[in-house]
Amino acid sequence: MVNTDNFLSVSHLNISFNGNTVIKDLSFNIKKGTLTSFLGPSGSGKTTVLRAIAGLNQAFAGQIMLDGQDITNLQPNQRNIGMIFQSYALFPNLTVFDNIAYGLRVQKKSKAEIEKAVTDMLAVIGLTERRDYYPANLSGGQRQRVAIARSMVLEPKLLLLDEPLSALDAKTRVELRNQIKRYQQELGITMIFVTHDQTEAMAISDDVLIMSLGELEQQGSAMDIYTNPKTMFVADFIGNHN
Ligand code: ADP
Repeated sequence: MVNTDNFLSVSHLNISFNGNTVIKDLSFNIKKGTLTSFLGPSGSGKTTVLRAIAGLNQAFAGQIMLDGQDITNLQPNQRNIGMIFQSYALFPNLTVFDNIAYGLRVQKKSKAEIEKAVTDMLAVIGLTERRDYYPANLSGGQRQRVAIARSMVLEPKLLLLDEPLSALDAKTRVELRNQIKRYQQELGITMIFVTHDQTEAMAISDDVLIMSLGELEQQGSAMDIYTNPKTMFVADFIGNHN
């Protein structure tokens, strides 16, 4: 049954590409209102799992439950899940305001509702003054904030962020990861954050899920993983990436 500990519940997920198994019997739970990082080397399957949760993968075996609902066979747009990628993919011909308003207009919200929701979201991301700018006139960090706002304004049950900071310079990366943490806490959004950067994962996560070759090595708090690595892989991965 639903409780806040298994808000998202992935059970026995198996995914193969051309007969090659890349996700092997993966099961985990995610608590409501937390930020969980998927951490692991490139090719360990992080994006593949994220895409399965979002409904963007080809066939797989297993079950995915979100907030008590079996979403395994739902279309992506029926899942109430937002997804943010490394590239921001904003509409270049729409202003910041209109980019954020886009999904609300698709949902046929009233003009007044849209004005309020977007204005509130602009304040959260600190871009009130930039509401009439076009993406080309924003910095990379600002564009990514708009992309995140565009998802958050739809109030998804779950927000998936796939290496959202990779395209940014080091200073902006640190600023934006702190901002993402703040949005997550202020708005109480459940987030999954995919990264291969352990400093990033450890800095912002309530929970870290470490993957290697399509398998779950360990799930726990950053402290837990540092002080009590369960496998050689985890000890090595943490130890070698400081
Ligand atoms: P990560 O996100 O951890 O870097 P991925 O989920 O992108 O890892 O990839 C995991 C494995 O699955 C890799 O070996 C990758 O080559 C393979 N893979 C991912 N997507 C496809 C695809 N569409 N077709 C074939 N192989 C794929």
